Amino acid sequence: MPFLTIYFTVLSAALGAVMGSFLNCWAQRYEAGEKYPRGRSRCPECGHTLSALELVPIFSWVFLRGRCRSCHKPISARYPITELLGAVIFAGIFLRFGVSPRTAELMILAGCLMLLSFIDYDTMILPNGPMLVALISWAAFLPTYEDWKRRALEGIVTALVLGGAILGISLLMDKLLNKESLGGGDVKLLALVGLYLGPWNSLLMIILACVIGLLFAIPSRGPSRQFPFGPAIALAAVVTALAGDAVIGWYMGLWGLS
Ligand SMILES: [Zn+2]
Repeated sequence: MPFLTIYFTVLSAALGAVMGSFLNCWAQRYEAGEKYPRGRSRCPECGHTLSALELVPIFSWVFLRGRCRSCHKPISARYPITELLGAVIFAGIFLRFGVSPRTAELMILAGCLMLLSFIDYDTMILPNGPMLVALISWAAFLPTYEDWKRRALEGIVTALVLGGAILGISLLMDKLLNKESLGGGDVKLLALVGLYLGPWNSLLMIILACVIGLLFAIPSRGPSRQFPFGPAIALAAVVTALAGDAVIGWYMGLWGLS
């Protein structure tokens, strides 16, 4: 691999780790009632303000062996996991799209999806703010596509059809099961990622989201326990944005269509 590719991949991973850390912190403060994160990071147990060395994503947690330096209480593995997730996703985006508007567009989308997932995981709520940011970003990046008219048309039709179909299915399920199956936030999120992915990749995303959703649902199985579907949709959308074209190309090739 050329030196510059390695350099930018490492840089992307570092950016992703910092974003993962920041967005996880934002989600936790959002849950606590703060709309935006303010002030320095603290240990949730003893209030010890974290020094620069304790703020390095992933590495700090590993070197502190998952414990606060001040009170020695365990620090949730959620911190390094969200940081690692951000690093892998951002590095993957750079490796797939290189130095291009696609990389910037997907990093913004991934950031919005990570924040949505972290909040949904805690609260079962998908707030509108990050979805609005992703929507504006989609429109802002349209002119960077050569066939932008086709992308706009396909995206909007996919969003409407997908959102409408899922809304219909969830209303039907609500009637049949007599309880809420999918939240309104899930429908909005599916329409949003449909806008980005277009028709074929969206089909792939739905299948993948159901598989991931089932994997999430198995450990949280219980009489009243609901599981958030947002993280499954978000993860499926990112994977499809990175690998969907390759999978579809391979599948068409099987049938001699490409
Ligand atoms: Zn502490």
